[in-house]
Amino acid sequence: MSTYLVAWVIGELESIQKTVRLPYSPDRETVVSLYAAPGQASKGQFSLDLAVRVLPLYEKFFECGYIGDKMDLVAIPDFAAGAMENVACVTFRESAILIDESTTTMEKKYVALVVAHELAHMWFGDAVTMVWWNALFLNEAFATYMEYYAVDKLIPEWNVFTEMLQREGGALCSLTRWTALTLSRSMFATHRRSMTSSTPSVTPKAPVSSV
Ligand SMILES: [Zn+2]
Repeated sequence: MSTYLVAWVIGELESIQKTVRLPYSPDRETVVSLYAAPGQASKGQFSLDLAVRVLPLYEKFFECGYIGDKMDLVAIPDFAAGAMENVACVTFRESAILIDESTTTMEKKYVALVVAHELAHMWFGDAVTMVWWNALFLNEAFATYMEYYAVDKLIPEWNVFTEMLQREGGALCSLTRWTALTLSRSMFATHRRSMTSSTPSVTPKAPVSSV
């Protein structure tokens, strides 16, 4: 793992949790937790519910297992960036993951896209990391495409792909699903081979039929 993807979070936090049985880890449940400042965790229920649906969706899309054995989504007060894709410990600005009754649909879409974006980085950026920062566009372009893919699959009534065309510009629009699929499967085939030779405990197994 690249050192920039390591994170520890220390503070007074509360959490809510769910478990999900992932296609590539059918023998165990993966715990997905949302941490927030005291009194705030319940505002993360939407993001938590989304995350447990996004992870199996990505495993099936990439044909490669999630590299972590748990997933923590952490809402941090005064977090400078929007979010950061640390392996299995994704950190967020509170406004990028927490919602309440005053949240508009537009804001809720933003939260869904950010959560889906950061989870896509578990594959693009974390499982497979660029050699140097001049290839950062690969991380971000694929993760950006996948955030729309996932939200469109899970909440189709939002029709987020039409917004992608407006928001993300021509460069991303040219990254079609088939380009993403072809490149990602090639990358993860290489990743699987390296994992098989070095850390067999996380080598993906054949997927179960559906989750
Ligand atoms: Zn990103």
